[in-house]
Amino acid sequence: MTAEDRIDGVHELHADGHLIRYCERLHNFSGSLPVKFHKSFTFRCSVSPTSWSFRVTFEKVPKDGSVSCLVFIRRMDNAQFSVDVDFWMCVLFLPLTNLPPQSFKLKGMPRGGRETRTFPGVIPYEVLRDLSDQAPIFQVSFGVRHCHVDEDKKKPARLVTTQNRGPKAWCSKL
Ligand SMILES: [Zn+2]
Repeated sequence: MTAEDRIDGVHELHADGHLIRYCERLHNFSGSLPVKFHKSFTFRCSVSPTSWSFRVTFEKVPKDGSVSCLVFIRRMDNAQFSVDVDFWMCVLFLPLTNLPPQSFKLKGMPRGGRETRTFPGVIPYEVLRDLSDQAPIFQVSFGVRHCHVDEDKKKPARLVTTQNRGPKAWCSKL
């Protein structure tokens, strides 16, 4: 993997939360399974900072030759409040095949919280067979919400505007 194939997390500040995005090319993907992607980071929120780690593991399923995905999330800080989590990921075999993204939301993740999700058939056997010589691009975003929103007034404590940019805006590989 070369330096230009990976982008360390890009942070975004939103009106009601924070988001970090990663974009990475996975070289020799099919020959390296299981492939693990692990990140740790802190959202330096002015009101409610939180620290996190997540691990995404791609595994080949012997039964049908597809690739499943295991996502493990852990909140690392000790602050008392809870926040909501938005997780989103996508595997791109460009320019031929864009597989559907996977995502989930978690409500009220407390300190020390852990969550595991499994996504079967993230990469179907036919795609892996036909595109096994390609290095797919893996995009993942991790967001927290309701960390700096004033719940009493039901509006952001600090108004921050952000543009709703698509994945191409934050991944130089697309
Ligand atoms: Zn915040």
